[in-house]
Amino acid sequence: MLIDNHNRRINYLRLAVTDRCNLRCNYCMPAEGIDFASNDRLFTIDELARLSEILVSQGIDKIRITGGEPFVRKDLMVLLRRLSKMEGLNDISVTTNATIIGKYIDELKELGILNINVSMDAINRGTFEKITRRDQYDTVHNNIIRLITEGFNVRINFIALQGQNTEDILPMLELIEHYDVSVRFLEEMPFNGGSKKFDSIAWDYKRILAHIKEAHPDYYKLESPKTSTSINYRIPGFKGSFGVIPSFSRTFCGSCNRLRISATGDVITCLYAQPSMNIREIMRSENSEEKVKEQILKAIGSRAKTGFEAQEKYKGVFDNSMTSIGG
Ligand code: SAM
Ligand code: SF4
Repeated sequence: MLIDNHNRRINYLRLAVTDRCNLRCNYCMPAEGIDFASNDRLFTIDELARLSEILVSQGIDKIRITGGEPFVRKDLMVLLRRLSKMEGLNDISVTTNATIIGKYIDELKELGILNINVSMDAINRGTFEKITRRDQYDTVHNNIIRLITEGFNVRINFIALQGQNTEDILPMLELIEHYDVSVRFLEEMPFNGGSKKFDSIAWDYKRILAHIKEAHPDYYKLESPKTSTSINYRIPGFKGSFGVIPSFSRTFCGSCNRLRISATGDVITCLYAQPSMNIREIMRSENSEEKVKEQILKAIGSRAKTGFEAQEKYKGVFDNSMTSIGG
């Protein structure tokens, strides 16, 4: 079992399989000039599977595949197939922009990988295209509806961006009126590859909730698991639910159960922390299994207690892009 230095059990790995993406969401990366990792700096699918196996043997029982856009890796399904057979791994989920997932929906279903988080930061086409800097609205919208109607457990992530998409917060709730889906409103974090610096946000979770309350005064809170980062609500008569994720306010750090490994092998014990170390070359060395276990234990044994504590120590945090961290 992996227990950190604050006595928290770490059982959830967020594994980034690439830093590349076919969209250019403006809160995540700059429009141009992105320094993507060369192929030899990314794990192969076999390395990702072996790394997962080692971590599952240590007590990880939930893995979320993220990126960049995971489905830009043409061999992603090979990894997912291997994960789906891994004993001790109870929950496999994917975070995606839903542009490429369409052709894999049947196979995902067959593997029983039904937990899919989709980023969609606007219901208005023009706003969506402005934020993502690409013309993929119909594909994303259609794939979301298809995933929902085919029985996937879909959660839509919407980042509240001052001056960009907050008029879409209430219209997004129409989705949960008609579909059994969860829409989660996230606070913006300063990980955009240095294209925008800020140390406060206009739309924190309290403001998002107050805004929703004006239109839906009778919403009520739902029970959520202790380690959940979202606070979840239901509006009477609506099929789905909504939530807020205080990712900038960081109210949930106390029960954090996560470990992140970036697309290039950085081991990250907190989103706001400097990577503890890089595991890529260790994975490629002899006797890698024992060395990986040792390094992971070391990283987990010196975690910051909260994102605020981590940020204090790591002043370079704002230069990172979420496309390499994985969100
Ligand atoms: N491409 C996939 C997607 O967009 O869902 C997976 C990778 S993306 C980096 C993972 C998550 O990070 C997404 O939900 C995205 O909205 C979120 N994200 C990216 N940049 C962010 C930022 N600056 N603040 C908050 N969340 C961010
Ligand atoms: Fe790509 Fe996801 Fe970042 Fe958007 S949030 S640019 S879809 S990695």
